[in-house]
Amino acid sequence: MTDVLLRGGLPWGLGAPADILVRAGRVARVSSDPIEAPGAQVIDVPGQLVLPGLVEAHCHLDKTLYGGPWVPHSADDTLAGRISNDLGRRAELGVPSVARIRALLRRMSAAGTTHVRTHTDIDPQVGLRGVEAVREAAAGCPVDVRQVAFPQHGVLTNPGTAELLEEALKSGVEAIGGLDPAGIDRDPVRHLDLVFGLAGRYGTHLDLHLHDGGSLGGWELELIIERTKALGLGGRVAVSHAYALGQLDGAHQDRLIDGLAEAGVAIVTAAVYDFPVPPVKKLRAAGVTVACGHDGIRDLWGPYGSGDMLERAMHVAYRSTFRRDDDIELALEAATVGGARALGLDDYGLAPGDRADLVVVPAGSPAEAVVVHPARTLVMKDGVVLHN
Ligand SMILES: [Zn+2]
Repeated sequence: MTDVLLRGGLPWGLGAPADILVRAGRVARVSSDPIEAPGAQVIDVPGQLVLPGLVEAHCHLDKTLYGGPWVPHSADDTLAGRISNDLGRRAELGVPSVARIRALLRRMSAAGTTHVRTHTDIDPQVGLRGVEAVREAAAGCPVDVRQVAFPQHGVLTNPGTAELLEEALKSGVEAIGGLDPAGIDRDPVRHLDLVFGLAGRYGTHLDLHLHDGGSLGGWELELIIERTKALGLGGRVAVSHAYALGQLDGAHQDRLIDGLAEAGVAIVTAAVYDFPVPPVKKLRAAGVTVACGHDGIRDLWGPYGSGDMLERAMHVAYRSTFRRDDDIELALEAATVGGARALGLDDYGLAPGDRADLVVVPAGSPAEAVVVHPARTLVMKDGVVLHN
């Protein structure tokens, strides 16, 4: 493997131009003095921002129609309408499709995404076909893909699902999911006991979709905090969406944020449509890990999504009404180090010894990279230049 020398870029967080030497898939040296590296492939990136690989922490690859002909969106604007559109048209459109998933992963990679966590539907109708399709598509792509066994249509209310979730974990799926323990499954204690039990037994991560809002959602967050602490699963539990956090009043919100920080529960936001966005700045100030992702991309749930995590970070910043550069930078953090922490990635970053998963952007600052999200100058995965 040839050494690569990125010359004159602006490594995020360093505050000055520096050379980065990549050797054997790792960052070998970072220096503001010129690095001499005979035999290395030299790539000049003067004044351009160098970031660690972008992390897509919440999407649904198995559902995507990306890369195929445009499919007019036919769901009405209700949850029931979206569910019946999804279930009713899957077979006609060949979902899950290895070709569509692969097309999306290639697009993500070209935009600098190096790690993806995707929620894959598991239910008695689709079985583990989605898991297998995602695995097959990911095998040929330079993206680290981790799946969440996701009960999109409930666990307790959809007999046979719990057994399939366990089968998915036995087959090596990296995380167990959950979905509105009250709103969908109508029995939060049993739902949470079941998914936390599986996470504990199989040593996996846990990432729950929580759309339940207001005090109901707040109470479910308390149950999640309690279980995470009791089972010692801090650092391995995430709550996606957590709309309630964006709706509750100050004191109640503060109490929950303290609980999430203490328990080590991450929050993953997508900032889509007009759904409430968790208070990113307050969460970060309290030390809670915040990650982000697209949620659905070009699928039967909605027609939007590009696969570009800098654009997604822009949506997070915009929906959070961030204007100051240091606030906008929090959204970039969610699309990079926050995602890496939520996924439990080792050796992530720009320091010597870290895996050389890098993206170079023609921007002079993190805020500019988010607001403009220009075409990427270079993408590197495990030390290999993929796009330059
Ligand atoms: Zn989702």
